[in-house]
Amino acid sequence: MHFNMIKAIRGTRDILPLEVREWQQVEDAAREIFELYAYQEIRTPLFEETELFARSIGQETDIVAKEMYSFRDRGDVSLSLRPEGTASVVRAYIEHHLDRQVGPVAKLYYMGPMFRYERPQKGRYRQFHQIGAEVLGSEQPTVEAEVIEMLFLLLDRLKVPSAQLLINSLGDAVCRPGYLASLKESVGGQLDKFCPDCQRRAQTNPLRVLDCKNESCQPLIARLPSVLDALCSPCRDHFDRFRASLEDRGLPYALQPRLVRGLDYYVRTTFEIVSGELGAQNALVGGGRYDGLSELLGGPPVQGFGFALGLERFVLVLPESVTESLKEGPDVFLAPLGDEAHRYCTGLATRLRRRGIACDLDYEPGRTLRSQMKHADRVRARYVLIIGERELGSGQFTLRRMSDGWQEPISEEGLFAHFGPVAGATAPTNFSPTA
Ligand code: AMP
Repeated sequence: MHFNMIKAIRGTRDILPLEVREWQQVEDAAREIFELYAYQEIRTPLFEETELFARSIGQETDIVAKEMYSFRDRGDVSLSLRPEGTASVVRAYIEHHLDRQVGPVAKLYYMGPMFRYERPQKGRYRQFHQIGAEVLGSEQPTVEAEVIEMLFLLLDRLKVPSAQLLINSLGDAVCRPGYLASLKESVGGQLDKFCPDCQRRAQTNPLRVLDCKNESCQPLIARLPSVLDALCSPCRDHFDRFRASLEDRGLPYALQPRLVRGLDYYVRTTFEIVSGELGAQNALVGGGRYDGLSELLGGPPVQGFGFALGLERFVLVLPESVTESLKEGPDVFLAPLGDEAHRYCTGLATRLRRRGIACDLDYEPGRTLRSQMKHADRVRARYVLIIGERELGSGQFTLRRMSDGWQEPISEEGLFAHFGPVAGATAPTNFSPTA
């Protein structure tokens, strides 16, 4: 019988061990930095009622209209895999009265997979991963600037080169309708020159015309009215204070009046961090303000500001200086020669690990030194400990550094001292192997 091979679904990918290390590097740095700014992690379900996303992201957006993985469960409820994180976080905030638990300003972060039925290409997948953070309960522009400062710290920590901050304001319920009317009029006056998608968007969601990637639309878009010229005075003031706070913090930015995001809930400040290294899918981070989203979801009035960054894209721009060290394997590979030495190594491995020293060994007894050295190389061990029959008797083994072949005789105690002591690596009292 011959079975055909089953492969991962188009637009999804396996993140293999070496790559996972890079992901962890980004995740660990994000956790560390978010916690410096007093954010707490929240974990919400991977699927929700479809209505949650339809109402918050917007019925007419590409995400909801074309890209959601929606299905009916056995109870005939329409559910969707989450295409982004903000809607779920705001739902959870309302549902659990998080303001009472975490204080007047809730600072939350999340990380995990999101799902959109998009056309896969480099940096764009159908299952992709975001790290996001949300601040709920403040309308201050300084909060926005602080969030961006936190992101810059993360970029800095990971040595991400050539990232650029783009900012815009989309106005609010007072000034946006007027702007949309002028946009509609302006596009409508030359409708036949726009691509079919824009012709449709001009009716359903005119802001999205500004976001069209079609070459032939670009010169037309450049001449459309700018949202920044249409801001009402409270929105203008908010945006000016946001910019001043960025400047106070020494954070460079570029105004990008065509920056509209693919989600309807944004008001006032929106931003992106783009990288020149990424090609067409150049947005590393996207975010903005979403006052009013809580009310849309049946909650109390709560102001909100947040962002999401794409992990796949972050990993693509990590410089080699950061990823190089991640390829290292265990501290030491144990290479016994002979049965007795092999038995000894089983116990030694336990003792090393209990002290927090990572080690590996060949499970097959009786391998030659040559083949064990090869194995050590494959697992990228930093050192090899060679234990021959004679050495077993003397208690002095040979420690060899893989990078340059440097070696020295060493005892078991010497080995512990060489790699340790590792803080917190004390042995549990209910676990005392006899070896
Ligand atoms: P958004 O939720 O659309 O505002 O996107 C925020 C960030 O998520 C983007 O800047 C990207 O880094 C990332 N992202 C969005 N969609 C995808 C996708 N289909 N594949 C990979 N990353 C994505």
